[in-house]
Amino acid sequence: MMDNCLFCKIVKGEIPSKKVKETEDTFAFEDISSQAPTHILLIPKIHLGTILELSTQNSDWVGKACLLANEIAKERNISDTGFRLVVNCNSDGGQTVFHLHIHMLGGRPMNWPPG
Ligand code: 5GP
Ligand code: ZN
Repeated sequence: MMDNCLFCKIVKGEIPSKKVKETEDTFAFEDISSQAPTHILLIPKIHLGTILELSTQNSDWVGKACLLANEIAKERNISDTGFRLVVNCNSDGGQTVFHLHIHMLGGRPMNWPPG
């Protein structure tokens, strides 16, 4: 945990969020600035600044987070219509919050290339 990290504070409940689901190692909550009918952020409960900080010790988190995203997609009835998972990394990737997160977007057709 990092004292000055927004998403660590959300995990700890020090900053309110709209929780969607929680597991032992993942917290899923609604994005505050929704870009689609479903826009959820899936974050590791431990602090990792970017995806570059994944290591062989903790890279299984990605698979677990994807399984949770699949569960959420089924619950929200967007698994058949589809959805998108996105990880932004550093400045060219468009990352603005430096606690690793997977965006889950769905409920409308997405564009490609993403821009
Ligand atoms: P990034 O640009 O780093 O990939 O995405 C950061 C995301 O975090 C953005 O979509 C932004 O709307 C979301 N966000 C930023 N601050 C907050 C907050 O305080 N609460 C919630 N729920 N989402 C936030
Ligand atoms: Zn953090």
